[in-house]
Amino acid sequence: MAFHGSARPTVCGNLFSGSELDHKYFCVNTTTGATSSALTKTPRSAEMEPDRPIGYGAFGVVWSVTDPRDGRKVALKKMPNVFQNLVSCKRVFRELRMLCFFKHDNVLSALDILQPPQIDCFEEIYVITELMQSDLHKVIVSPQPLTTDHIKVFLYQILRGLKYLHSAGILHRDIKPGNLLVNSNCLLKICDFGLARVEEPDPSRHMTQEVVTQYYRAPEVLMGSRHYGPAIDIWSVGCIFAELLGRRILFQAQSPIQQLDLITDLLGTPPLSAMASACEGARAHILRGPHKPPSLSVLYMLSDGATHEAVHLLCRMLVFDPSKRISGSDALSHPYLDEGRLRYHTCMCQCCYSVPSGRVYTRDFEPAAERLFSHSYEESMHSVWQGKEFIHRFITEHQQGKRVPLCINPQSAAFKTFIRSTAWHSSKVSRKEER
Ligand SMILES: [Zn+2]
Repeated sequence: MAFHGSARPTVCGNLFSGSELDHKYFCVNTTTGATSSALTKTPRSAEMEPDRPIGYGAFGVVWSVTDPRDGRKVALKKMPNVFQNLVSCKRVFRELRMLCFFKHDNVLSALDILQPPQIDCFEEIYVITELMQSDLHKVIVSPQPLTTDHIKVFLYQILRGLKYLHSAGILHRDIKPGNLLVNSNCLLKICDFGLARVEEPDPSRHMTQEVVTQYYRAPEVLMGSRHYGPAIDIWSVGCIFAELLGRRILFQAQSPIQQLDLITDLLGTPPLSAMASACEGARAHILRGPHKPPSLSVLYMLSDGATHEAVHLLCRMLVFDPSKRISGSDALSHPYLDEGRLRYHTCMCQCCYSVPSGRVYTRDFEPAAERLFSHSYEESMHSVWQGKEFIHRFITEHQQGKRVPLCINPQSAAFKTFIRSTAWHSSKVSRKEER
């Protein structure tokens, strides 16, 4: 790949105002004590107070805070309803393990987990991640200019992160602009793994359809397919790509059926072979309606940035039949993304570096995961109490030999504010528990 000598200066610097987040400290005590009784009794001067919520995932609430150990601004996520039942226990443990497993610049990972109290008092889990200033939803609805260069570098990073997740055998299942965090120099990270799960190799095993925010939901899920794969995430990326170009949601319907109708308005009536896994009712709905021809040429009208190359890639993602939809790694080979790759590895990445004679590029621009994510531990989790033991042990072992552990001071006023802000959300999300 010709990566040398054609670097351009970044245009990403002015995308955000940069002054949006001005943090206070969060009320967390640092402690060096080994016994849990000491955890809330050794306050240091560097206490943190919560500032304000910065986002709500499918599960959990996120606050911006300052790490008292180094003054670094980070994000604090409380994972709610952890020990409500075995299903939520498994879900939270899965998300926690994923956050600790990820090692990729375009995927959000755990920097730390707050030290849990003794197991009898262990009710909540708090995870610290890198703090990002905004997300793609906020960028899209803002008046800030979004150039072709921005779109290319964003799309490149989304696919780069997704290739990594899929190579680890993980389906995200809720790819949407709000789950793509960005900072002021356009670095992008995929976040919120509350609905993520391991790919199911056995097609006879049913998977839940309670996934993916409706506007970004793939046709196979809308049509009731009981088994699906990484292609559902690629569909979502296609919708987001079109949204970046047109700065409006591509398929904005009121109901799942209308969602399907909008999709077939654009792609045309699918052939029977593309509906092989659909449920009978959904197939009948499509066949009952008028035969629609495809109208993909309207994609050229999304914006001036909708060039032939852009629309070509978009049309490879927005394919009705998941078996014919482009994969993440194949999409990365599309010429539309060459400039995004160049920009990313010239001035944004951690994998390449500059020397006086020029830039030294990595051998692997889009690395896969080193191994598959394992969820075999879930089979041996049979009760909430057992889950509590598993998670407590996991956090304790994860922290061993690392930095001075952080823990919450539940007596502080700031912590009470934080808890109040998370309480209403917990009740809202509890109904979204899934198999
Ligand atoms: Zn690089």
